[in-house]
Amino acid sequence: MAKIQEIRPIRTRSNGTWVIVKMLTDQPGLYGIGSASDYYHADAVIAAINKLAPRLIGREAGHIEDIWQSVFTSGYWRNGSILSTALGGIDMALWDIKGKEAGLPVYQLLGGPCRAAVPCYAHAAGRDLAELKDDVRRYLEEGWDYIRCQLGAYGGGGFLEADKAHRPQNAWPARRVFDDEAYLENIPAMFDELRQEFGFGPKFTHDVHEHLRPHNAVTLAKLLEPHRLFFLEDALPPEEVGWYRLMRQQCTTPQAMGELFVNPHEWTPLIQERLIDFIRVRVSKVGGITRAKKVATLCEWYGVHTAFQEGGDNDPVNQMAAVHIDMSIWNFGIQEENHFRPEEYEVFPGHAVQEAGYLYPNDRPGLGIDIDETKAAALLEREQVDAPRYMAEDRRADGTVVRP
Ligand SMILES: [Mg+2]
Repeated sequence: MAKIQEIRPIRTRSNGTWVIVKMLTDQPGLYGIGSASDYYHADAVIAAINKLAPRLIGREAGHIEDIWQSVFTSGYWRNGSILSTALGGIDMALWDIKGKEAGLPVYQLLGGPCRAAVPCYAHAAGRDLAELKDDVRRYLEEGWDYIRCQLGAYGGGGFLEADKAHRPQNAWPARRVFDDEAYLENIPAMFDELRQEFGFGPKFTHDVHEHLRPHNAVTLAKLLEPHRLFFLEDALPPEEVGWYRLMRQQCTTPQAMGELFVNPHEWTPLIQERLIDFIRVRVSKVGGITRAKKVATLCEWYGVHTAFQEGGDNDPVNQMAAVHIDMSIWNFGIQEENHFRPEEYEVFPGHAVQEAGYLYPNDRPGLGIDIDETKAAALLEREQVDAPRYMAEDRRADGTVVRP
């Protein structure tokens, strides 16, 4: 059995926000990799990994569950996003090593495939309905069955130009403001048009990005009921999940939630009370394959499906880890897609292949994905790496911040 010899975080992407954990063992050539990326706090995650490493050197790499539990409580305080992400990267690297030792892909170790490939949903968007319809049509022609439909970026459809909104005399500078009523008008109208144009064959989703006041989120879910969405995503922020009970009493629009979850107390009640239909945790953010698999198992007992989060800031290693779980669980729902640039794919030989709405893993042992450290380093652009990063800040007419 292999013992952990070195744990090294590797930064890549031009902005350095991708953090890949490389775990070397005392067996020649045997190592594993995992994803611990964080768009906003990569430095903090790297610091956490470097602090955890000495505790793990010399341990059996095959003791995945034991190491997970040990790291989980290693800082006494737990369930925060930074430690959880560091743990996620370490856990994936351990599964990669385990698979390589066994000579099997990780999805075989998790129980074997439940499906031939992993269905994904595409991200269609447009600044207006015409652009959106073109984008939807393009994806349908490429063969995608599941499509997320958005009017622009976060909160799109709910913005008024600042000079057209009724703002205070001493209003703070703003280009646009978010308005719940505009959103409640525009998004149902968007689906009216999409269903009229494309019928009920395509499976559509929509992401609210938590922008609405909770009671308006309930109204939106009710208004969208006739459009039979595959799911409505992030209708509520994590702080307001109690409102899912009221939403359930009002309508049957399926709910997807959880990309910001890191603490089991966030997902457990929603699953046990069957208040959501899809759990959307990011594999790295909940502590890796070990915990994401447990979340999926919990969901299975309650008829909840998975829709693991990806999103533009995520890396190919996390995507691959998600694919291995997606392949092996029965209650898989859908996988979020991701796009990477050709030079980014080149850093990760063996990456999952995305084609016409399906993701394909490979049959190599472990996660089946590697990192080319020279190419990884070559992608970094110092200025971008050093730039501070913050989530976009949307505000209402009076200046109040909207939850992202
Ligand atoms: Mg979302």
